[in-house]
Amino acid sequence: MGSLRDEVYTAYRDWSSASAALIEEAREVFPGGDTRMSAHFAPYPLFIERAEGPWLHDADGHRLLDFMNNFTSLIHGHANPDVVQAVQQQVALGSAYAAPTRSQVALGRLIVERVPSVEQLRFTSSGTEATLMALRCARAFSGRQKIMKMEGGYHGSFELAEVSLVPRPDRCGPLDAPHPVPVDRSIPDSVLADTVVCPYNQPDIARRLIEQHAGELAAVIVEPALGSMGMVPATEAFLRALRDATAAHEVLLIFDEVITLRAGYGGAQGVLSITPDLTAMGKIIGGGLPIGAVGGRRELMRMFHPDEAEPVMHASTFSGNPLSMAAGHAAMAQLDPQTLERLAVLGERFREGVGRVFRQNGLRGQATGLASLSNVHWTDAPLNDARDTLAAMAAAGPLPRLLHLSMLRRGIASAGRLMYCLSTPMTAGEVDTALDALDDALRELRPGIERERPELLL
Ligand code: PMP
Repeated sequence: MGSLRDEVYTAYRDWSSASAALIEEAREVFPGGDTRMSAHFAPYPLFIERAEGPWLHDADGHRLLDFMNNFTSLIHGHANPDVVQAVQQQVALGSAYAAPTRSQVALGRLIVERVPSVEQLRFTSSGTEATLMALRCARAFSGRQKIMKMEGGYHGSFELAEVSLVPRPDRCGPLDAPHPVPVDRSIPDSVLADTVVCPYNQPDIARRLIEQHAGELAAVIVEPALGSMGMVPATEAFLRALRDATAAHEVLLIFDEVITLRAGYGGAQGVLSITPDLTAMGKIIGGGLPIGAVGGRRELMRMFHPDEAEPVMHASTFSGNPLSMAAGHAAMAQLDPQTLERLAVLGERFREGVGRVFRQNGLRGQATGLASLSNVHWTDAPLNDARDTLAAMAAAGPLPRLLHLSMLRRGIASAGRLMYCLSTPMTAGEVDTALDALDDALRELRPGIERERPELLL
């Protein structure tokens, strides 16, 4: 008898032969056959040909319910009719002019009206640039160099943003004074030296670290939920401690709401009534097209004012491009507090259901998250930070990845790390379909788990 992994891979390969053939072609032009690390998974990802509403259609002709939504950016699912119309109208009028447009003002105004911390903003082409510009604004404003970030926090594809993204147990140091861990061998020592790493959800340690480094710290950057490290929500006490300690020491507080903006009409900050100094946004505000934005109080955003003596340099060829503006406005205009509340209730239904289905199958598991954002974990122990998430992943071995493949075969798409997010075309029916698929997948995996990972049995 082969290993559980061999069984699951074989079944997946048999089911997706068109994607298996296409990845061979792709491997000729891309290292590993893909052009985006986060979306890649073994043995190979599915090639997608089209999508509409909550549905993806792959190269083999399967239809899958999409709980991934391009890593949470498509809050209305795919090819939303208003978004399609807005983009079609705009593209016929030209796609980018290197000039301001009415559409920039319209989307900018919508964000200012909704997000409490944002009095003014600048658009960028990605969430990466949004967090980067927030950090540069903070450094220029404060004249200080160091940045505090959270262990397990992800803020995009640049060096500092990925320090201690994966706090490997052999390198991460003590919880009350974590070491900065490079995510790969490309991170310069100078970046590590300028990064103060703080454990997530530890208010007392955070207060002490901010106090200790106050004279050198430009900003503290934090996600209201650790997105990449298992969708672990911040406790209110933790974010409150960060707010109070940064304010007391004149350190700027940056919320990275690139993912969590969909947690409420004014983002997670609106739900929690905790207002950061600067906010980085992205994903849903582009309606499915590339986007980012950095916003905050006028006195801080003034750092980007062209009339300043030394403005922070903010360029980028596609910032505020009319296509992203049109798509973003069409998508955001359809979102109201009631719709977001409905999605949050569905998110609870999903998370409760996941715990129940694991228990019914005699297995340890749960889903964490907030509002329409969830992550499935192979543990029933509480998850408080990135160390907990990593420990649970290590204990589960290949199972999260195998469950992902088993769910794909049952027509349910999520991120490979088992992040699930909802879109407005979904109802309780789609959530229950995913839970039924989970039940079926766990039944299939259970004999292999009994053989290879009995510690995951209840
Ligand atoms: N911040 C967070 C919290 C994110 O999840 C991401 C992307 N997943 C980013 C920043 C970077 O955004 P982008 O991929 O658009 O550059």
